[in-house]
Amino acid sequence: MQTTNPTLLAAYFDGKSAQARPVELHIERERLHVRTAGTAFDVPVSQVLWPERTRHGMRIAQLPTGGIIQCADGPAWDAWCKSNGLQESFIVVLQQSWRWVTGSLLALTVLLGATYQWGLPVIAQGIVAITPYSFDERIGQATLTAIDDRLMEPSSLSMAQQSSIRDAFAHALRFQAADNVPRWNLKFRKSKLGPNALALPGGTILMTDEMVQLVDGDTDVLTAVLAHELGHLKHRHSLRMLVQVSGLSAVTSLFLGDFSTVLAAIPALMGQAQYSREAEREADDTAMQVLTAAGLNPRVMVTMFEKLEAQRQSESKGPSSGHSNDGANVIVNLLGLAFASHPADSERIAFFGKNSR
Ligand SMILES: [Zn+2]
Repeated sequence: MQTTNPTLLAAYFDGKSAQARPVELHIERERLHVRTAGTAFDVPVSQVLWPERTRHGMRIAQLPTGGIIQCADGPAWDAWCKSNGLQESFIVVLQQSWRWVTGSLLALTVLLGATYQWGLPVIAQGIVAITPYSFDERIGQATLTAIDDRLMEPSSLSMAQQSSIRDAFAHALRFQAADNVPRWNLKFRKSKLGPNALALPGGTILMTDEMVQLVDGDTDVLTAVLAHELGHLKHRHSLRMLVQVSGLSAVTSLFLGDFSTVLAAIPALMGQAQYSREAEREADDTAMQVLTAAGLNPRVMVTMFEKLEAQRQSESKGPSSGHSNDGANVIVNLLGLAFASHPADSERIAFFGKNSR
């Protein structure tokens, strides 16, 4: 059937895989039609969580199926929405929901206005500050499940080795004031990611067996990495980046008490999140503080940077790294929040190396 309604090209994540698929969108009779290679479906426009209009950045819409639509071309998206009269229907949806009438709408209007005024990073920080910690835990759990499904296998490190790393880190933290140490829980996994570590919202730190092996189990070096990840936990960075990446749609779901929509979209959203340089600096500050208080030489962090760099070089020289296509895709998508993706630039090397002899 020939359609006269305008179409838009965007990317689609089904909510199960971190892989993006190109899609063609168009709206007809109050339904959003999504067409990808090989499949097509449609959902009621009123059940889509449409993104807020911001000056910059990509648009992300959450579908009632748990999938998300992402469009990097903001102006094209906005023009398409306008030509479909979407702006109005979004308002209508708000008015139809009684919960919005009780102050949430006001709060969101303030948030939106503030976003225009100060930009998303500042607002994201404010949103995180008023978000209950149980939200972090639920997101962390959903992320862990998704990662375990696709990327991780049970650790092959012995219990004794796992304990010695955990104990060394706990020992280093004894020199910190109690309120300076967020809740943490270290888990080891054998992975397809290679040497890496990752702090999930809610306090779980994942470390790969490959990272332990890269430094022959040196607990000083591993403590440095863990202290950096602890910094991310302390500042709730991953939640902040998540709020930034999802625009305000995650927060609107929070206001509506609709966790399931957020949780379904988490794996794909986490795949898009990436720490800012400022977040990295804050995590490095925590690492430095923990290491010096415990009497460890901060240079151990440089040792890790060097080992990771050597590993990267040998991988890029090798014939093919042996990752499956699917695995490689997921790896690229998850690296934004993981330790090994943050380049050890001269600034960071100087930061940790300055106290060395
Ligand atoms: Zn980091």
